[in-house]
Amino acid sequence: MVKAKKWVLVRHFEGMAKESDLELQEEELPPLKDGQALFEAQYLSVDPYMRIYTAAAPLGSTMIGEQVAKVIESRNPKFKVGDYYAAYFGWRTHTVSDGVPAADNALNVPVNLAVKIPDLGNLPISLGLGTIGMPGATAYLAMKEIGNPKPGETVFVNGAAGAVGHIVGQIAKIRGCTVLGSAGTDEKCSILKSDFGFDKTLNYKTSKDLNQSIKELAPNGIDIYFDQVGGDLTDIIVPGHMRQKGRVVIIGHISKYNEAEMPKVPNPYLPVLINELRVEGFVIFRREREVWDQGFVEMIQWLHQGKLKYKEHITEGFANAPQAFLGLFKGENIGKAVVRV
Ligand code: NDP
Repeated sequence: MVKAKKWVLVRHFEGMAKESDLELQEEELPPLKDGQALFEAQYLSVDPYMRIYTAAAPLGSTMIGEQVAKVIESRNPKFKVGDYYAAYFGWRTHTVSDGVPAADNALNVPVNLAVKIPDLGNLPISLGLGTIGMPGATAYLAMKEIGNPKPGETVFVNGAAGAVGHIVGQIAKIRGCTVLGSAGTDEKCSILKSDFGFDKTLNYKTSKDLNQSIKELAPNGIDIYFDQVGGDLTDIIVPGHMRQKGRVVIIGHISKYNEAEMPKVPNPYLPVLINELRVEGFVIFRREREVWDQGFVEMIQWLHQGKLKYKEHITEGFANAPQAFLGLFKGENIGKAVVRV
C-alpha cells in the first residue's frame, strides 16, 4: 500500500496567500487497475498562476500544479516504468492515474494531464517544468505569435529574472534585438547581463523615477514590451515609451495577483491609436501541446548549442512547497522556481 502526501487547499487565498491556507495530508492509494500507472513526483512546479486559478478549486482539493513524475509501476503499456512525465497532478508525492484529466479541472481548460518529457539528453529533467515546459513554451510562443521580434528592434521585458522572463530576453537576443529588462534586486539585474546577455537592466524597486529610468534605458523607444507584471511600469511604458507599430505582449499581472480586488486598468487607447500599437493577451493553456512541442524542438537545439541558458531556483523538500510558492511573490527566485521532492 502506497501512502501519498499531498498539500490540500483548506482556505481560498485572500490578499497575500498564506501558508496556513494549505495543509499537509496523507492519502492511501488504491492498488492499480488495468490502464493505470503509479507516478512518483520528482519535482513540483510553483507558478504565479496558482495564486489566481485556485479561486475555482474546491476547498479540500489537492493544490493545483504541475510536476515531473516518474512512472514507478504500470498496468498501462503507454506508461513505461522509468519514464518521466510533466503532469498536472497537483502537489502530491504519488498519484494513480490513467492519464485522463477530470472534466472539471481547476485550470478550466483542456490541459493534457500527463505528457512525456521530450528527450533532454544530459540536461536536467526538471527543465520539463521550466525552459522545456510551460514557462518556456509561453516565452517562445508569445514572442513568436505576438512579439514577432526583428533584428535591431528594442525589447523590454519586466519580471526579467523569472522563469519566463529570462527566456524571453534570450530569445529576443537570439533574434538580434537590443534587450532591456527589469527586476527587483541588483543581483538579478547583474545576472541578467552577465549570464543571459541582456544589454541593460533596471532595478524597478530602487529607481527614484521610473519614467526617467526608462527614458535612459530606451532613449529611442521600445518596439516590444513583454509585460508579465502590470502596474506602474506598464502605466508608464505603454502610453509614453512605445515606438510606432510596437507590440505589447500581455501575459501576466503579478503585481496585482495578491490584491483583494483587481484594479482598474488605466485607459491607454489614445497612445495605442496614435502609435498604431498591437496590444494582445496570451494564455499558454489555450495552445495545444503539439504547438508547445514544435517550439521545444528549436529550444532544445539552442540549449545544446549553449545559445539558451537556463537557471533554476530549487527548494529542497515536499514539505517546503508552500514557502517556495510564496517566495514567488517576494521575488526570491532567479529563473524557474521548483521544489525537489
Ligand atoms: P517568476 O519566475 O517570474 O516569479 C515571479 C517573479 O515576479 C518574482 O521573482 C518577482 O521578481 C516578480 N514579482 C513578484 N511579485 C511582484 C510584484 N508585486 N510586483 C512586481 N514583480 C513582482 O514567474 P513566472 O515566470 O512563472 O511568471 C511571470 C508572469 O508571467 C506571472 O505574471 C505569470 O502569471 C505570467 N505567466 C503567464 C502565462 C500565460 O500563459 N499567460 C504563462 C506563464 C506565466 P522581481 O524580483 O523582479 O520582483
